[in-house]
Amino acid sequence: MSDVRNVIIIGSGPAGYTAALYTARASLNPLVFEGSVSSGGALMNTTEVENFPGFRDGIMGPELMDNMRAQAERFGAELVPDDIVAVDLSGEIKTVTDTEGNVHRARAVIVATGSQHRKLGLEHEDQLSGRGVSWCATCDGFFFRDQDIAVVGGGDTAMEEATFLSRFAKSVTVIHRRDALRASKTMQERAFNDPKISFAWNSEVAELHSEGGKLSSVTLKDTQTGESRELPVTGLFIAVGHDPRTELFKGQLELDDEGYLRVDAPSTRTNVAGVFGAGDVVDHTYRQAITAAGTGCSAALDAERFLAAQA
Ligand code: FAD
Repeated sequence: MSDVRNVIIIGSGPAGYTAALYTARASLNPLVFEGSVSSGGALMNTTEVENFPGFRDGIMGPELMDNMRAQAERFGAELVPDDIVAVDLSGEIKTVTDTEGNVHRARAVIVATGSQHRKLGLEHEDQLSGRGVSWCATCDGFFFRDQDIAVVGGGDTAMEEATFLSRFAKSVTVIHRRDALRASKTMQERAFNDPKISFAWNSEVAELHSEGGKLSSVTLKDTQTGESRELPVTGLFIAVGHDPRTELFKGQLELDDEGYLRVDAPSTRTNVAGVFGAGDVVDHTYRQAITAAGTGCSAALDAERFLAAQA
């Protein structure tokens, strides 16, 4: 069948573009669906990336992603700025359908659709992303040395972010809607024993305020009394969870309890032959551009070997 591709890649973050680069260089002529809204993935919404190896002075997120895109294109990856809205992964030939209803067929599919961090839903939240508001302490903690900052959330991730951030920050306020944490006892104790960490209990962030385009303070509302107060902070780390983008694959690929794609690690094989998963759609733990790019590479090599074994 001449219209059957070797490989289709769904997603255009570091995982998708790296998979595209490797499969293109292996002459597999990949077709990449980048998404209609945000081709380039999560890093399109950030400013400076200082921890992607190879850029001594850092690089702006969108520039890094443009470079990855151009590098994949240079070796012949075909890039389509559209969403995949349906898939059938069951047979030897997999099909994916775009928003125009066109059906594309391939022997192998790499899923690299990423995950979406949960937002607070506040006005200015998106504009202040990378300007004080962050969803990643590992990525951005370093920018907040000697500053007063806050973390929103009461689970393990929030406690981990708070204790990590207290290494850099002057003070860290944990803002939590209830009067007790959901985090494990060990994580709680570590946070309670940290002299730089304090807690705003029964509190939620009601408003974000900025000066010169950067976060300057937040208004907290007491969930019990309804009273408001202002907390001056230049950093707000939101740690209220992530949603992997796996809706499309429900019922076709094995997902874990939190909806992440399950793979046969350290390979990127899913439970369906010829389908591979890479990046944050699989990864609960690391969620970094470099780890997403790394697993994108693994998925490309796994797909290449799978196709070679079919030939
Ligand atoms: P994503 O980057 O999320 O890309 C997934 C892509 O798939 C998206 O473009 C999406 O539109 C597309 N897609 C989804 N569904 C479909 C579909 N049905 N059809 C077609 N396309 C689809 N990491 C670092 O290492 N350093 C940092 O400094 C850093 N800063 C960050 C700052 C912010 C604000 C955020 C949010 C994250 C940051 N990260 C950073 C984390 C990093 O961005 C992610 O770990 C990484 O982008 C994950 O890559 P990915 O390829 O798995 O997915």
